[in-house]
Amino acid sequence: MEKKDIKSMSEAEIASELAALGERRFRAGQIYSWLHQKRVTSFEAMTNLSRPLRQELAERYRIPQMTTAGCRVSRDDGTRKYAFALEDGNIIESVFMRYRHGNSVCVSSQVGCRMGCRFCASTLDGLERNLAPSEMLEQVYQIQRDVGERVSHVVVMGTGEPLDNLANLVRFIRILSDEEAGGISQRNITVSTCGLVPRIGELAAEKLQITLALSLHAPNDALRRTMMPIASTYSVAQCLEACEAYFQATGRRVSYEYSLVEGANDGREQAEELAGLLHGKNCHVNLIPVNPIEERSFRESRPANVANFKKILEKRGINVTIRRSMGADIDSACGQLRRKIVRQREQRGGIS
Ligand code: SAH
Repeated sequence: MEKKDIKSMSEAEIASELAALGERRFRAGQIYSWLHQKRVTSFEAMTNLSRPLRQELAERYRIPQMTTAGCRVSRDDGTRKYAFALEDGNIIESVFMRYRHGNSVCVSSQVGCRMGCRFCASTLDGLERNLAPSEMLEQVYQIQRDVGERVSHVVVMGTGEPLDNLANLVRFIRILSDEEAGGISQRNITVSTCGLVPRIGELAAEKLQITLALSLHAPNDALRRTMMPIASTYSVAQCLEACEAYFQATGRRVSYEYSLVEGANDGREQAEELAGLLHGKNCHVNLIPVNPIEERSFRESRPANVANFKKILEKRGINVTIRRSMGADIDSACGQLRRKIVRQREQRGGIS
């Protein structure tokens, strides 16, 4: 029988597993605390459990491990990019960023991605598999341990489409935000989606207090379809409707991400159209000059165009910020470090 991943389980789930083994309820709290507060890597280390219980746990359950396969530290701003090797040899990428409001970790939700956005490096090789809740948690835990500083914010904006892995995402968020575990407030957790409309409704039904970010990138369907295949399945209008419903259900203001690509979506015309679309909505727009990737030929908007775009939105009363590009000196575009390490491994003769 395959061993179950105990680090992906809630405390209540561990309790029901233990009940089936005839163990007392409070043991679940002890195990949960070993996993998510002391963060030990073996049952052996759970020294307040009897030896036979530790042995029994080790026979039935596993605690997934992850090792650092690469880390690059930006000299500009202290941003740190991590590549982690999972137990099956897959590589994922996570980022640590320092902001004035606190330290933030950007988490991957899948190995690769199947959404195919034209400007994104994470999707070039398609989807390999979903990440388990424990593998998402471990990215935050390992970075906390490595940096030795408090992490106050988590954004699920790394590789993958989080709503394509919704059940694991929700488990991850519940453990991450549990005071007895990850201890990060739901209000400081952001999930970004390319716009899987039905899944936005399912996420809203979970009634989490997290921030939803929608990757819009274009104010109309025709333009959006040239950038994001998902735009052929769901229209901009459907996305906005789903975001409005998310706001109604949770009271949380939605963020719209808009990556500016020179000559494609960064003109006055697109800014006006976007302003018309969002006018009067309780929302926030994040503008980010696109990060060029070597596999494609597009370029980032010029600073003057970024500033103009922002001004047009502001004139219409829309909340807008320009996201600083962090760690520009360290393979900053999404998925680039992971691709580099995977390629090196392949050249060395296959993934171990
Ligand atoms: N799949 C999710 C989350 C991961 S991508 C989503 O689509 O939202 C996180 C954000 O980075 C998204 O807004 C995505 O469109 C954007 N992004 C991807 N590649 C980028 C690049 N090269 N430059 C700028 N933003 C990029």
